[in-house]
Amino acid sequence: MDSVETVSLNNGVEMPALGLGVFQTPPDETRDAVRAAIDSGYRLIDTAAAYDNERQVGEAVRDSQMSRSEVFLETKIWISDYGYDETLHGFEKSARKLGVDQIDLLLLHQAVPSAFDRTLEAYRGLETLLADGKVRAIGVSNFMVEHLTSLLDRCKVVPAVNQIEVHPYFAQREVQEFAGAHGILTQAWSPIGGITFYRDGSHGSTLDDPVIGAIARAHGKSPAQVMLRWGLQEGRSVIPKSTKPARIAENIDVFDFDLSAEEITAIDGLDTGRRGGPEPSAVTLEAFGRDIPEA
Ligand code: NDP
Repeated sequence: MDSVETVSLNNGVEMPALGLGVFQTPPDETRDAVRAAIDSGYRLIDTAAAYDNERQVGEAVRDSQMSRSEVFLETKIWISDYGYDETLHGFEKSARKLGVDQIDLLLLHQAVPSAFDRTLEAYRGLETLLADGKVRAIGVSNFMVEHLTSLLDRCKVVPAVNQIEVHPYFAQREVQEFAGAHGILTQAWSPIGGITFYRDGSHGSTLDDPVIGAIARAHGKSPAQVMLRWGLQEGRSVIPKSTKPARIAENIDVFDFDLSAEEITAIDGLDTGRRGGPEPSAVTLEAFGRDIPEA
């Protein structure tokens, strides 16, 4: 197995470019999925306070006998815990559930446009956690250009990462370019288009796309592997989710081939401009708020 490439974040921290996502992985399946991932060579796990499986992620990492510094743990503060003090406490909840003193990368899960001051206060909490050495890097998720612009006007620390929906059917080029120009790494969620098949959508599944299928056949790889390779070659971090050991292994087996410039352009051409996830403006505390339990 070729080892996973790493990327340098804007503060010099090294992060594996590819990791395991655990959104919608039920708590009782999370330990096995994370364990299978570590056994397959994954060294980055992406979870969130809102996924209800931080505890099981932490248990699996501990059971694996890997030393703490070998596995990069990334989690996210949910919007209900925004505000300065609330975010500091949100860190405590996540760190206790994960069973760690320090989190490698801590993100704000969503911008809340209707409560943006609270979002900014939450980010100030992340800056304090970074200054105190409780986290190694900080960032955001689902921030659009206008949210990044407002944040950059007011923050002291430029976010290291913006984790957003990116797959061949929804590439968010404008957000990616803005982030890149400011030294913010784009990390793709639903990197193999998961949201195009677990959510009812009219544009079908990226896995069945004929352009991706032809490229996959040409390389003797699967459509999922081609989409992950496309993301990596375009400079993104990718965090595919699976609970199945064979797919977990398949999704990391993407460091032994290269897509040509023509193949990358062909995949770029599949962008429909249609978002699978929630409209950022629809994310309100009223609609999406929910209590994150204590550790
Ligand atoms: P993905 O693009 O990773 O796709 C996951 C889906 O694909 C699952 O249904 C999985 O099923 C299936 N799958 C996985 N590997 C393969 C394969 N090789 N061949 C065929 N099917 C496969 O989508 P996600 O939405 O899960 O995104 C990945 C991660 O991104 C999440 O787990 C989470 O960590 C993060 N995320 C973040 C969000 C945010 O708001 N910040 C929002 C959504 C996701 P199975 O498990 O049965 O294999």
